[in-house]
Amino acid sequence: MTVVRVALDVPLARLFDYRADDARISDIGLRVRVPFGSGNKIGIIVDVGSASDQPAEKLKAVDAILRDMPTLPPAWLELCRFAARYYQHPLGQVMHFALPPLLRRGLLPKRQPKSIEHQAIARVPELNAAQRTAIDAIVASRGFETILLHGVTGSGKTEVYLQAIATVLDAGGQALMLVPEIALTPQLEARVAGRFANARVVSMHSGVADSARAAGFLAGLEGRADIILGTRLSVFMPLPRLQMIIVDEEHDASYKQQDGLRYSARDLAIMRAKQVGIAIVLGSATPSLETYHHAHSGRYRLLELTQRALADAMPTVRSVDTRRQKLQEGFSAELLAALEQRLQRGEQSLVFLNRRGYAPVLACPSCGWISHCRRCAANMVVHLADRRLRCHHCGLDNPIPGACPDCGNQDIHPFGRGTQRLELALQERLPAARILRVDRDSASTPRKWQQLLASIHANEVDILIGTQMLAKGHDFPQLTLVGVVGADAALFAADFRAPERLFSQLMQVGGRSGRAQLPGEVLIQTEYPDHPLYRALAGHDYASFACRQLEERQAAAFPPFSHQALLRAEAPALAQALEFLSAARALAASRADERITLYDPVPMRLARLKNLERGQLLVESADRPALQAFLAAWMTGLEGLRSPRDLRWHLDVDPLEF
Ligand code: ADP
Ligand code: ZN
Ligand code: ZN
Repeated sequence: MTVVRVALDVPLARLFDYRADDARISDIGLRVRVPFGSGNKIGIIVDVGSASDQPAEKLKAVDAILRDMPTLPPAWLELCRFAARYYQHPLGQVMHFALPPLLRRGLLPKRQPKSIEHQAIARVPELNAAQRTAIDAIVASRGFETILLHGVTGSGKTEVYLQAIATVLDAGGQALMLVPEIALTPQLEARVAGRFANARVVSMHSGVADSARAAGFLAGLEGRADIILGTRLSVFMPLPRLQMIIVDEEHDASYKQQDGLRYSARDLAIMRAKQVGIAIVLGSATPSLETYHHAHSGRYRLLELTQRALADAMPTVRSVDTRRQKLQEGFSAELLAALEQRLQRGEQSLVFLNRRGYAPVLACPSCGWISHCRRCAANMVVHLADRRLRCHHCGLDNPIPGACPDCGNQDIHPFGRGTQRLELALQERLPAARILRVDRDSASTPRKWQQLLASIHANEVDILIGTQMLAKGHDFPQLTLVGVVGADAALFAADFRAPERLFSQLMQVGGRSGRAQLPGEVLIQTEYPDHPLYRALAGHDYASFACRQLEERQAAAFPPFSHQALLRAEAPALAQALEFLSAARALAASRADERITLYDPVPMRLARLKNLERGQLLVESADRPALQAFLAAWMTGLEGLRSPRDLRWHLDVDPLEF
């Protein structure tokens, strides 16, 4: 009897055995259609043998082994196995997730992948000495090595990636380049395609149509693709000739998936490089503190680019003390004057406020009513442009009421400000300026976003107002001023990662200015001009900021000095969620040794989302293997724990959001 062991997309941490008399050992890694319940499912064969734990008469036969696709290679299966183990997620669901949707359904794409349109071959710049040193070190690396390329914004990191990729292609290898959000970086796509006109470049992200995504996956699997440029999901691309992985902006939170398989693509990429025995380059101007710590403790190799490649200098960064000024619609006199000056000189400016909408809340001064979302523990945001109140957490969307819903007062006010409000205020003050707002509302589709970018590059814009969409990776040569508004709130946020995020965001957005020949200036409006975070920014001193943060983290035993996992539960009533978490805690206490710290169940910071009350339980350990072993044992227990029917729970390993 021949038995195939199949990974299926079901929420159970087990495999399923089927009889398949024509199966061979070489079928491992093929898709298979099997009967399941009253229908059938597509799964992946992960093993072929002659015995099963199930009694032979109970085994069903497979419907068909799908031999029309090449087998998924052992390295791919191994990566999925690791992800399943590490993130405590069923293997079948990991594999299902790692396959493009079309292939999951047992289909094959009809079309060939559309490779990125080739541009005229771009000139390859002569590397400067620091870039040369970096490239030499990367190219000389043998076997598995994690390399941090820590380079200030505009220091030519991308140029280093490109030339590293060139050596990989010369050696007949494949290169995988991960970027945070490809929809935001068409410039990079063009740059890669323009550099390697003879290479087959495949672009992989959630915006790619199903058939193209499946075709791209097959091109990788069959070794036809040379360069994969993609977002986090492309870490699962099967690449038999893979020789190098690059993770650009490695600190970016979008590498961590926040639902389903809660994986970190950066961390999986490192594991993948280790499994295959190749170099992985993590690049950033503001590395995550985890990565920075490893680079300085010698676990990763550190390469630094401390100078900008084109511009003569870093932008000057200054705090504007707003404590003793009356702001005009959120703007200090100094920032307004600087904007006006750029306008006269024909240069571009950017005003950064990481809050979209007109105002974060609508309130009634007479009775105290505020625009709560009825489904979430959050406020509805005022969108004046289309006169709506919107919840940014659940999407609830209502018209702005004409009067207070509680007391009928017609004089209700928006409080605080978002990008729309800044836009209107600036339009009034600087009527001659061509102002463009860039946020998820104005760039709601990739097409709109392309149009916005095109008009910025065509110099049709004097002042940009935007959220962090504008912070990443863009090169705007005419941009010489960045004004930062409303950043203080993040200084005192409860999340221990908030300062790290703020620092890197401001460094990134400030780095948009003065990238070409024109000198750049960054003005940060703040009531805490002497805050160490702002001082470090002014000194372009990531090192001192990082060291202080790491000291604090060490004192508090936060990551990277500990490893964390969060058990989250949501239910119609908070008591149900907390009760489940308490039971889970009791279960954990019986299985944990002294290396594991268990905290108490608490409501989540956003305690209600879409009418569900949410709680969480934090588990921590300085010893990662011990935590992993504990989590595996705990999970088996949790699956047997009784809970109300409408309660949902999940485990998040290495959580970024609390
Ligand atoms: P980063 O990725 O570090 O932000 P980039 O690689 O985008 O930096 O480089 C910033 C700018 O400098 C780009 O316009 C790039 O073309 C240019 N550049 C990079 N390296 C060199 C070099 N060695 N000589 C001339 N220009 C360079
Ligand atoms: Zn009222
Ligand atoms: Zn809501």
